[in-house]
Order: sequence, then structure tokens, then C-alpha cells
Amino acid sequence: MQPFEPQNMKQHEHWMRIAMEEAKKAEAIGEVPIGAIVVRGDEIIGRGYNLRETTLDSTAHAEMIAIRQASEALQAWRLLDCTLYVTLEPCPMCAGAIVQSRVPHVVYGTTDPKAGCAGTLMNLLQEPRFNHRADVIDGVLRDECAAMLTQFFRRLRKKE
Ligand SMILES: [Zn+2]
Repeated sequence: MQPFEPQNMKQHEHWMRIAMEEAKKAEAIGEVPIGAIVVRGDEIIGRGYNLRETTLDSTAHAEMIAIRQASEALQAWRLLDCTLYVTLEPCPMCAGAIVQSRVPHVVYGTTDPKAGCAGTLMNLLQEPRFNHRADVIDGVLRDECAAMLTQFFRRLRKKE
């Protein structure tokens, strides 16, 4: 089965649920719940969740961590034949990392009106002037991915 046919929605949802499990690991330690995985064939070769507060590192986004791990697994900076699943639309930094690592397929859950650079504010993943473009599917488990974030921020506001 081709991993990136839009009609394979059940499969995309399966992987997105695993990205959501990563996001829940972030939430469990008080981080904004965003999770990502890199899939190659039937195998997860990279996982990551947001660790910005824990590591005091503005670059510790879920996608960056998952991409780094995937490159280590493949022993290659080019993530050919891989699909990156992430619960939230990539920011400019992560979209840049996706272009740099030549990830061919990106699937994301919910859009990010404040930083989304995979179609919302701009589309760095499909910029014709870049030397690499990715296929993008958005809105996979959109409501669940969005609810995770809104619930997190609602609880945060209650605490304050
Ligand atoms: Zn990012």
C-alpha cells in the first residue's frame, strides 16, 4: 500500500494517533502538547514531543527532535521515503528543517494561525523557489489534535 495516498486516511489516522501519544508525553510534563513521528514504510524511525520549557531550548520542537532521531536511525541527513506526522502545523523553523532534510511527505493535524508555515501564514513546504517541496495532507484528526491544545491552555489559565 502506498503510504501517502490521501485515500489511505485510516492509515494516516493510525500514525497520527501515535503522534498524539507523543504530544501527551509533553503534556504530562507541563509542555504544550505537540507530538511528531517520522515513519518509513511500516516503521517509526523518529519520535519527538515539544520540550521547549524542559530544555530551555527554543528549537526543541517535536518535529526537530523526531527529524534528528530519524536521521540518526537512517545514518543520513536526507529523510527519503519518509512521512512526518505532526499534531500541529509546522512553524517556520520546522518547515525549514523539513525542507532541509528533504522529507517528501508531511501530514499534520490542526492548523496554527499564529505560526503555521505549511499553508496557513505561508507555505514553506511547497515554495517553488526552494529546491525541495513536500506533499502535504492537513486536517488528519484535526479536532482531536486541536482539542488537546485548547484543553491544555484552558487548564493553564485556570491554574494562573
Ligand atoms: Zn516548530
